[in-house]
Amino acid sequence: MIKSLAAICVAPHLPFVIDEILVDGPGAGEVLVEIAASGLCHTDLTAIEGSNSSCVYPAVLGHEGAGRVIETGPGVSTLRPGDHVIPLYGPECGVCKMCLSRRTNLCWSIKSTRDRGVMPDGSPRFRWQGEPLHHFMGTSTFSRYTVVPEIALCRIREDAPLDTVCLLGCGVTTGVGAALADVREGDNVVVFGLGGIGVNIVQGARIAGAHAIIGVDLHASKAQIARELGMTHYVDASAGRVLEEIRDVCDGGADVAFECTGHVAVMRQALDCCHAGWGTCVLLGVEPRDALMQVPPVAVRYGRTVKGSYFGGVRGRTGLGRIVDLYMDGHIDIDRLVTRRLPFEQINRGFELMVSGESLRSVVSFT
Ligand SMILES: [Zn+2]
Ligand SMILES: [Zn+2]
Repeated sequence: MIKSLAAICVAPHLPFVIDEILVDGPGAGEVLVEIAASGLCHTDLTAIEGSNSSCVYPAVLGHEGAGRVIETGPGVSTLRPGDHVIPLYGPECGVCKMCLSRRTNLCWSIKSTRDRGVMPDGSPRFRWQGEPLHHFMGTSTFSRYTVVPEIALCRIREDAPLDTVCLLGCGVTTGVGAALADVREGDNVVVFGLGGIGVNIVQGARIAGAHAIIGVDLHASKAQIARELGMTHYVDASAGRVLEEIRDVCDGGADVAFECTGHVAVMRQALDCCHAGWGTCVLLGVEPRDALMQVPPVAVRYGRTVKGSYFGGVRGRTGLGRIVDLYMDGHIDIDRLVTRRLPFEQINRGFELMVSGESLRSVVSFT
């Protein structure tokens, strides 16, 4: 058992309680990781706001971290103390039906326990004030020490700076991966929502060789960074001529449209702006619970495709290294996305900045 500084989400509200917790050593197939840094993501905010059904309180949140292996449990064969790792909320066991299908990066082998805030054996490794404390998304990176299943850790090259590549644990990979999966050279691409995911779709589309990259948002202030990352046109969604403007730029419709707002009406716009015959609409935003999207069958009968994307379609253990290389080789910019760096103790401030919209991405570091 080891003492660890952590941010405890006692119930659905801010602030977190910053306190020392106790972390058990790793069980069979588990790994004790010392987190170096962690990004703050909107999905953590859904748990803080109480709208995330897979958060069990009290919990240690955080799912965008990077760190070093401290100790491995019995049976762990692919990681050693000292290895640099990124925890994965989407594991890759390599042996389940989904992993073996080679058709998806989803692996639900430990989903049921993960969504109940416990390790695969049904118990948590965290204790606080003598009571069990839950994990979140199987990662819980808002603790200096955390325990993660071996199948949910990606070993990364050791020259990659942990306080930057931590963002590959969620937002950057989701956006860049989604673009690399569906954008072809010369495509006209539309990105609805220029937040943490959208700007990464922009840079993924640029790497993939897109022709036009059209960003759509309500807040022109977000356009600047998107332009620096490769956006070629900006459409002001509040002006009310979104589809007309997109069709003008794309000569009839988009080859690929990405939706990153979670608003069902915007999802529909993303479908409607796609070119007849082949346009692909990729949904990434998370809609409100029970929301429905109406789709007239003719919209897809004439060759359009609607699909989703999870973690950019990237397989966590075997695919994330390629994204790390893209960063290390200078093809994708992560440093530009970090608008605020804070010591871990100021994590509550980081979420306040997110709520007020003042920060694209904050990173907290253990010193
Ligand atoms: Zn996230
Ligand atoms: Zn699997």
